[in-house]
Amino acid sequence: MSFLAESLIRWHPLNGRHDLPWQQNRDPYAIWISEIMLQQTQVSTVIPYYQRFLQTFPAVDRLANAPLDDVLALWSGLGYYSRARNLHAAAQRIVQEHQGQFPGSRELIQQLPGIGRSTAAAIAVFAFGQREAILDGNVKRIFARFFGIEGYPGQSKIQKLLWQKAEAALPAGHRGGHIEIYTQALMDLGATVCTRSKPQCGLCPLQPQCLAWQQQRVMQIPAAKPRQPLPRKETVLLLLQHHQRLLLEKRPSDGIWGGLWCPPEMTMGTNIVNYCQQQWGISVQPPVELPALDHQFTHYKLRIYPQLLQVTPNNPAAHPDCIWLKPAEALELGIPAPVRALLKQNFLTGQSSFSPCSEYHG
Ligand code: SF4
Repeated sequence: MSFLAESLIRWHPLNGRHDLPWQQNRDPYAIWISEIMLQQTQVSTVIPYYQRFLQTFPAVDRLANAPLDDVLALWSGLGYYSRARNLHAAAQRIVQEHQGQFPGSRELIQQLPGIGRSTAAAIAVFAFGQREAILDGNVKRIFARFFGIEGYPGQSKIQKLLWQKAEAALPAGHRGGHIEIYTQALMDLGATVCTRSKPQCGLCPLQPQCLAWQQQRVMQIPAAKPRQPLPRKETVLLLLQHHQRLLLEKRPSDGIWGGLWCPPEMTMGTNIVNYCQQQWGISVQPPVELPALDHQFTHYKLRIYPQLLQVTPNNPAAHPDCIWLKPAEALELGIPAPVRALLKQNFLTGQSSFSPCSEYHG
C-alpha cells in the first residue's frame, strides 16, 4: 500500500471526524444529499439544512414526488440553486429509470443530473464500499502539495495529472483496503489540517514525504486561479406594495435564481410607471428609491437598485406565477439571499426569522 494511503488510514481513527450526521448510515440517498450540500459549503452550514431536508424528504420517492417549490424553499439560503433543481430531477430519474433504487456503481451514479465524477465516487465509496478515487477541491490541494504539482488545478492537464495520482494512491487489499476510512481521511485532512490558508504541517501524517513541505513551497501550491476582474451588472427590483403585501414572481427555471420567488426585475433606464401599467395593468405612485444592494455571483457582480412602489387600485390583477405576500410570509418561500436581505432590511427590522448563510452561485 502507498505511504499516503497507509498514513491516512492510520491517522484517521484518532484524528478524523466521526460524528457527522451523514456518517451514521450507508443509505446512498442520505449520502448523496450530504455530498451535494457540502459542495462549496462548510460542514457547519450544511448540518441544519441536511437535517431539515431529510426530515421533510426521508426517501428518494418523497423527493421525486415533491413540488420543486418545496425543495427550493428548503434550500433557500444555501446558494447554488441549480444543485437543488438537479437533486429533484435526479430523484425523478431514479424513480422512473431505476425503480426507486439508487444506482449501485460510480458510472451509473455519474449519469444522474448534477453529479460529477468525484461526487459519484464518494457516494460509491461510502454507500457501497467501492474502490473509487475522489478529487474534490480539498483533495486536489492535498495531492498537489504532496506530489509538488505546480499550476492551477482547474487547468485540464493539471487536473488529469491529479486524477492519475488519486487513482494510483488508492489503497489496495481486502474490501478495497479500508476505502471508506481512506476517503474520509482525505476529506478530513483537507478540511482540518492541509487547509488553504493555515496548513498545520506539524500535525500532518503525510509530512515525511510531502514535497511541498520539503521544498518549503506549501503556500505556493496549488497555484491560485488566474484572476480576471469580474464584470459588473446592474438591475432594478420592483417592490410593488399593496395593502402591505408585495408582488413576487416565480423566476423562469433557467437563468439566475431559477424557480425562486423574487420581486419583478426590470432593466435599468425603463420608465417604471409605464412599465407597471403595461406589464400588470396597474397604476403606481412615483417610486421611492431604497438603498442599493451588492451581490456577488461566481461570474459577475450585481448591483441591485430596489424601488418601492405603492400600487393604487384596490384589486391588483392576478397573474400566473405571481403572488402577493406580506414580507414575513415571503421569507417562508424559496427566495434568493439578496432578496431575503432586502426584505429584512426594509420591512422586518427587529423581527427574527430563519437566517440564511451567504450565497454563492454557479
Ligand atoms: S505536510 Fe503540510 S502541505 Fe503537506 S500534505 Fe501535510 S499539511 Fe499538506
